[in-house]
Amino acid sequence: MSEKKQGTISVQTENIFPIIKKFLYSDHEIFLRELVSNAVDACQKLKTLVSVGEYQGELGDLKVEILLDEAAKTLTIRDNGIGMTAEEVEKYLNQVAFSGAREFLEKYKGVNEGANIIGHFGLGFYSAFMVSKQVEVITQSYKENTEAVKWTCDGSPEYTLEPANKGNRGTDIILHIADDSEEFLKESRIRDILNKYCKFLPIEIYFKDKKINNTTPAWVRKPADLKEEDYTAFYRELYPLTFEDPLFHIHLNVDYPFNLTGILYFPKVKGQLELQRNKIQLYSRQVFITDSVEGIVPDFLMLLHGVIDSPDIPLNVSRSYLQSDSNVKKISSHISKKVADKLQELFKQNREDFEKKWDDLKIFIEYGAITDEKFAERATVFSLFKNIDGKYFTWEEYKKHIEASQTNKDKNLVILYTHHAEEHHSYIVAAKERGYDVLVMDTPLTSHYLMKLEQMHSDVRFARIDADSLDKLIDKGVEKISKLSEEQKKQLLPIFEDQVEKGKFMMQWEDLSETDQPVIVTQSEFMRRMNEMNMLGGKAIPGETPEFYSLVLNSNHPLMTRILLQTEKEKQIQMAKQAIDLALLSRNLLKGEKLTEFIKRSTEMIGSN
Ligand code: ADP
Repeated sequence: MSEKKQGTISVQTENIFPIIKKFLYSDHEIFLRELVSNAVDACQKLKTLVSVGEYQGELGDLKVEILLDEAAKTLTIRDNGIGMTAEEVEKYLNQVAFSGAREFLEKYKGVNEGANIIGHFGLGFYSAFMVSKQVEVITQSYKENTEAVKWTCDGSPEYTLEPANKGNRGTDIILHIADDSEEFLKESRIRDILNKYCKFLPIEIYFKDKKINNTTPAWVRKPADLKEEDYTAFYRELYPLTFEDPLFHIHLNVDYPFNLTGILYFPKVKGQLELQRNKIQLYSRQVFITDSVEGIVPDFLMLLHGVIDSPDIPLNVSRSYLQSDSNVKKISSHISKKVADKLQELFKQNREDFEKKWDDLKIFIEYGAITDEKFAERATVFSLFKNIDGKYFTWEEYKKHIEASQTNKDKNLVILYTHHAEEHHSYIVAAKERGYDVLVMDTPLTSHYLMKLEQMHSDVRFARIDADSLDKLIDKGVEKISKLSEEQKKQLLPIFEDQVEKGKFMMQWEDLSETDQPVIVTQSEFMRRMNEMNMLGGKAIPGETPEFYSLVLNSNHPLMTRILLQTEKEKQIQMAKQAIDLALLSRNLLKGEKLTEFIKRSTEMIGSN
């Protein structure tokens, strides 16, 4: 090339059209949702016109039909709605991104039915070209003295528009399915798509002569018109494969400052946090949009089931945009509030029943309290605490219950808990002997939840029953008397230390009661919680993370004096070993070779008496 040349790259519609075709929606099956939605809109619009007196003709049975012709390789979406005149076809179908629906809404603002229009993106119709090599639209407007027209387009900007024969009002959208999209000629595929997106659309939809939708799903009906059975039946309709009935439901109905309806169900979770996610379905005017509601529903409520329907959630935008949208944020906090209100109402109405549901509910509430500040506050009045005798208390009730016996010298209330009453049996017995109460806190979230509660109530500490000796856990500042002198303790210590692996246990003397065990295994509350929280966050692996235990030697147990008085070194060691092993055994920590040795030694001891 000899000389420099300058120019403009020309962009033509021919080049852009295929891009729209391909990338309009990453999910090609969406085309059917869009076309059926348009057909439903066309019917709804006609109803609106009747209600404002602009149409006096017969409405007839408004319906949408999906017709599949495998031989001709066509899929037709037929409606008997509003139809289009030649001018309207030119205006609406030939101008990409010109939304007729928006214009209609503007015009009929304030008229109730007007709000039932789905399309407002102005692109839905073009999604037909994602799967078709040619699209024909044959349509007859409801308007008198208009003629039917046929619009044909193969996806290029050229189209034809001609008079057509059509006996009745409405529109046929005939898709000549492209070779690479033949999956959409399969009956089962079409049925699945209709089932997914159109199951609850408000106008009857027929496929293969069968009605496929429920036009008035429970969430669009008035709560006053619904019985408990109706809610359960709707749950079954949503989740045909789930066998267990939900615990209860919340019917959402908001019209200010945004529109939202829906029903949320509380399933029985039983501690399985991950399994249950993504069961909430998001709809916009009864059209299914997605079942991944992250960002729209507060995190902890993702464990719930049910549907949310809101025309105010921007649908064709990216997830990150969605999460920063202020409407979406409002929706999220509103749902959280509604859920708290409902829980409080259930608690107030029938506490006994609420207590029965508690074990299935507690994980939601703990999760909510941890992740949602406002929910945590609201939940204070209905959150329950169950003790080892199976009695339930609210936070305030429980504080009163233990105030007299479990307040320490610094005026802090110490709440004792166990994650497993069986495993902690000997510790619980010791606590009861002192007149203490013990709660059962046993979800995977317990550590996080307790931290939250301690944050909210600065005068309360939680301590697992095996976190230290009871006298240390609830330190009342009573002067302790030791039967052993410091000298004697020094003398005894190595006898115990030599019996355990070096560095595995911390050993310390404590002046406990005579009736306490001679040796007690404890595990620091702080270290254990850290471990548990790391475990839940996937930062630590069970079994591979070292767990730190301490051995508390009780200076006041008669055994200690007996070991001191024992002159035979062998016998001293045997007694110390036995005491340590019993402590480990009561905490279920004696295993393998150590357990075998213990059994052998114990058997010999019975024999020698
Ligand atoms: P949107 O539905 O978002 O407005 P579309 O591209 O899907 O955008 O449709 C454009 C317009 O074409 C609609 O607003 C409507 O006026 C008209 N239209 C599409 N399908 C039909 C139909 N089945 N019956 C009557 N009008 C229709």
